[in-house]
Amino acid sequence: MEKWYELEIETIEEYLVTNITTGLPQEQVDDRQQEYGKNVFKTKKKTSLVRRILHQLRDVSTIVLLVAAALSFLLAFKEGSSFIEPTVILAIVVLNVTLAITQEGKAEKSLEALAEMNSPNCTVFRDDIRKTIDTSEVVIGDIIILETGSIVPADARLIESFGLSCDELSLTGESEPVEKDATISISGTASVGDQSNMVFSGCIVSTGHGTAIVTAIGMDTQMGQIASHLHNTETLKTPLQVRLDSLGRVISWIAIASALFLLAIGLRGGADFGTMIMIAISMAVAAVPETLSLIVTLSLTNGVQKMVTKNALIRKLPAVETLGNTSVICSDKTGTLTQNRMTIKHLWRYGTPQISSDDNFGRKEEELVTMLALASNATIDKNEEGKTEYIGNATEVAIMQLLSKKGLEKSTLEDRYPKVAEIPFSSERKRMSVILKETNGYLIITKGALDRLPLEEMSNQKYQEIMAVHDSYAKKALRVIAVAIRYVKKLPDENELEKLEQNMSFVGLIGLIDPPRPQAAEAIEKAKKAGIQTVMITGDHATTASAIAEEIGILSEGKKILTGSELSHMSEQELNDTVKNYAVYARVSPEDKIRIVKAWQENGDVVAMTGDGVNDAPALKAADVGISMGITGTEVAKNASDMVLTDDNFATIVEAVSVGRNVYENIKKTICFLLVCNLSEIVIMLFAQMAGWGIVLTPIMLLLINLLGDGIPGLQLAKEVSDEDIMAKKPIKRNQGLFTADMLRLILRQTVSCSVVSLLAFYIGSFIDVSNIMSASLDIGQTMAFLTIGWTSILHIFNVRSKKSVFETTLSNNKPLTMSAIAMIVVFGLLVATPIGNIFGLTHIGFVHWLIVIVLSILPTLSHELGRVADNNPHSIRRRTYNYIKR
Ligand code: ATP
Repeated sequence: MEKWYELEIETIEEYLVTNITTGLPQEQVDDRQQEYGKNVFKTKKKTSLVRRILHQLRDVSTIVLLVAAALSFLLAFKEGSSFIEPTVILAIVVLNVTLAITQEGKAEKSLEALAEMNSPNCTVFRDDIRKTIDTSEVVIGDIIILETGSIVPADARLIESFGLSCDELSLTGESEPVEKDATISISGTASVGDQSNMVFSGCIVSTGHGTAIVTAIGMDTQMGQIASHLHNTETLKTPLQVRLDSLGRVISWIAIASALFLLAIGLRGGADFGTMIMIAISMAVAAVPETLSLIVTLSLTNGVQKMVTKNALIRKLPAVETLGNTSVICSDKTGTLTQNRMTIKHLWRYGTPQISSDDNFGRKEEELVTMLALASNATIDKNEEGKTEYIGNATEVAIMQLLSKKGLEKSTLEDRYPKVAEIPFSSERKRMSVILKETNGYLIITKGALDRLPLEEMSNQKYQEIMAVHDSYAKKALRVIAVAIRYVKKLPDENELEKLEQNMSFVGLIGLIDPPRPQAAEAIEKAKKAGIQTVMITGDHATTASAIAEEIGILSEGKKILTGSELSHMSEQELNDTVKNYAVYARVSPEDKIRIVKAWQENGDVVAMTGDGVNDAPALKAADVGISMGITGTEVAKNASDMVLTDDNFATIVEAVSVGRNVYENIKKTICFLLVCNLSEIVIMLFAQMAGWGIVLTPIMLLLINLLGDGIPGLQLAKEVSDEDIMAKKPIKRNQGLFTADMLRLILRQTVSCSVVSLLAFYIGSFIDVSNIMSASLDIGQTMAFLTIGWTSILHIFNVRSKKSVFETTLSNNKPLTMSAIAMIVVFGLLVATPIGNIFGLTHIGFVHWLIVIVLSILPTLSHELGRVADNNPHSIRRRTYNYIKR
């Protein structure tokens, strides 16, 4: 590797065949990409199909099933019985594994696509145009633009730098930002940490800005060399998935215990050993909801995809679920609740009357705008279509637009007053300064929040006059920027530049309007109905913030405003006790955000927090759901967040919450659906054995029910669209158990009714001669029980779909679900009606048997409907008791 830090820029420019003013032409970029590949670290190897299959085979239920197949083969060999049973069991294992692998593959693909959408961007100069590109597209020789909060896309030698410092913690372990300077010359051997005229891939620009020429990409970068340590292959499970895993384990134990119990009863009753083992093992398998974890994964990835269409990119899967539980959204003001389209409305040069930006400007006003422009980094450029484009932060863009409107040009100003240094803006300082060369010395221009300008002493009258104008702007919801200047003969040392910011003379004020987003008020109202409080956290002045907060409905009656300085005087305890009284936090710094998040969390709330700057990263991590801005957000904030808003819009958060709730509901529905069937199977088998009725369902029948009756329609629950009232409910509290009382009641009621009807069907088929042509037999009993439990389970999916009556929900809402349920009902019927059923031990049944089965299968759904009617009837005993207790 070259010692790029030793070389002059011109030498590197020549060596890498590039141009530092215009950047590379596109054809060269294409050639270099062809030759050297993408700017990426080697990605982890894809898991091979064999590995995936092996992974599936490690699953407990699959192992039990395989043991069952092996035992069944053994019995067939030994006793000369049919090989159909073991073959079918094996076929079911294959089907199950295939289903799991294809569905998981699909889920993984959609997550990969998401990761691609989430890949970082950077800004480069190519063909003399500033472009934002995917970091992976960067080539050697590219001219990159570095801004506060950007992540350095590749190793590069600095061309110019202003107040630039980089966080190189991940590369060198240095925790303090390292100062960078394009003009420094280094010779000899320098360690990475000492190469201060270089920036390195993956490091974060902490302050300032600059440009640099790319010298190494991908695995050739310093970070690439340690890339193998960077891969984080673990896939995080969501809290719900973890809870479901443990639920799965509990059910497995119940199943195994029941199986052992069945085995003991059977053996005591003198049943044949081989059959009993088979029954016991299959019982264990049948009772485990094998498809549960698959459906949960699908629900989550479906949620993620749906969120993408609503402009929310999920970066961490657990966020989908946590979003659904959110009870407080702490939102930035600028750009999230407002449009970030700033326009200067009013301006006031001290000593002259206030004017509107549309009025004719005199020399004094022109000077004010000129000073503001000189102290701005926004630039005017032509985009690829040749249109004029203003680039920079919205406040500064507004300044440049006014400058152009008044026919002034920044370049001529810059020629006259060359910039020698800059003290950059930060959300903590809320001001920035530029130091310009003048004939006899230096001019310092500082612009920023009025209360942060280090002004010289002044008379009370002057102070009052300035405050009066400031407040009158702020009350109109205008952002106020003040300007002050100072002349000095000599400059202090480079690291003491901040000392220049003192004794400054006040020049004037501007008031900028940033209208609220049109959807903001509606979304805040929607959130309120969903039991979610929105609070505004802003760096802006309290008066400006409260004017906007009132306009969009955040500052409703009884809610108060807290300023950053008040906050700094509060103890943690005081803040925890009073945090719920505040709806607006003004003039806060990013550090304050962590205190605010923690205080809400202390009150038991689940907090979603937005942020865009480098310093917002810790608060984004501390929040339950950290949300970053796709358009204005820094790469650092995006990296720290759980979700990125591609449109920066507050309303998107509320939409995402709604999707999150939908996902959570679907998972709960899945549990209700699958558990009923599995529990009923346990009850039926146990009861019949204890009553001495015999084996209700053979292993194959149980597996068919689980796979066809449960698995296939169940998969479609992941796509279920929520009831409209999903955003009319209160958020689910942190740590609230998975099973609500309603859910438990439904599971219990349905398990009982499903078990009763299936046992009845079995009993009638086995012991009562209801048909004149066929006399009762075990085969008929089993067939009737198989049909009854199968159909009942399938129909049960319509009970869990919605709180509303089956007749009120439209079947077309989730067509795949309805279609697969109908298809499986038909398949079950065909299995009995055609000779195929014989393979599975099913037999022909008579007309009366069919009738009985149909009636019995419908009964549980009917009883559920009646239960619902009772629940909704204000005169029902249960409702009356409930109302009484509530009183
Ligand atoms: P939020 O996005 O959190 O609502 P904000 O964008 O209003 O907050 P900051 O960016 O921290 O908050 O800005 C705070 C204050 O700093 C503003 O009220 C303004 O007075 C001043 N300010 C903002 N941008 C600039 C700038 N480019 N130059 C100088 N001062 C600025």
